[in-house]
Amino acid sequence: ERIEAEKESLEALRDLPCETKDGYGIELAANMEFPNEIDTVIASGAQGVGLFRSEFFYIDRGRIPTEEEQFQVYRDIIEKMAPQAVICRTLDLGGDKFLSPTDMADDMNPFLGLRAIRLCLANPDLFRTQLRAILRASAYGNTKIMFPFITDISEVRRARELLESVKNELASDGQDFDPDIEVGIMVETPAAALTAEQLANEVDFFSIGTNDLIQYTMAVDRVNESVAELYNPLHPSVLQLIRLTVEAARKTGIWVGLCGEMAADPSLAVLMMGLGIDELSMSPVTIPEVKKVIRSLTLAEVRKLRQDIMANLNTGQAARILEQFRRKHARSA
Ligand code: PEP
Ligand code: MG
Repeated sequence: ERIEAEKESLEALRDLPCETKDGYGIELAANMEFPNEIDTVIASGAQGVGLFRSEFFYIDRGRIPTEEEQFQVYRDIIEKMAPQAVICRTLDLGGDKFLSPTDMADDMNPFLGLRAIRLCLANPDLFRTQLRAILRASAYGNTKIMFPFITDISEVRRARELLESVKNELASDGQDFDPDIEVGIMVETPAAALTAEQLANEVDFFSIGTNDLIQYTMAVDRVNESVAELYNPLHPSVLQLIRLTVEAARKTGIWVGLCGEMAADPSLAVLMMGLGIDELSMSPVTIPEVKKVIRSLTLAEVRKLRQDIMANLNTGQAARILEQFRRKHARSA
């Protein structure tokens, strides 16, 4: 009965805004991996898709999907979500995402190898096909493109050049697309976070990928259980990199989201809100719970958590402070 009651109270939140008691709002969007998740996303009350991973197109298929196949999937999701935005992330294969379970990388360090944007820039035909599909689908609703695993400004420039050339190609084919489509990058490497100001001048938005940012900052393999204890979202280095990224976005006037698993933990979500993140994107099932906690707070409480944690970055007390906050405000029924 308690579970049912909790479920109903969360469902009642679906159409309410995600804002503090005194009206300070933050966008809550959903992460998606498979097209059939779109109904769950809509039912969750998400204000858009903050991360549509596109690896499913390639994983376990045995062949690269055609532009038409990709276009149909993107169009369907973008139409269903309209007028809310869908952020389509370009291919992020490599690292922990392989073409098939038997196709594990031979590299000693697949997470540091030819992954994501590196793979796409090395295979421009593969990349162009995906860009064409996303651009064509952008004629059907609010679409944004996001490039993963950026470490250097030259990658952003090369990816954007390719995007421009695909746009020209589509225009001369007479195909419709959104010519002003927003282009963003994932900030998920220390290299990107430390050069965020430079990168911010090249793009319309950032999305902080804390799953990878923590891995690369802490030198902890995100899929290795034996070092899982060292995988710490509250490590001062991680929080400093997030802070730097938000500051760079503010200074340059672009918006900044966060789409790693951190966003799904209500207390960490509040901390991220306090740090100035504009949009949190998470698994749709966690949206109502995060919203419930944010709606129970005042802006002063959000700011206090940020101040308490940031003032204690190097005292080893951050985890205890977060736990106290969790007990007081975010313990679920
Ligand atoms: C991340 O790295 O935080 C992220 C959201 O992307 P993925 O988990 O797909 O690497
Ligand atoms: Mg990532």
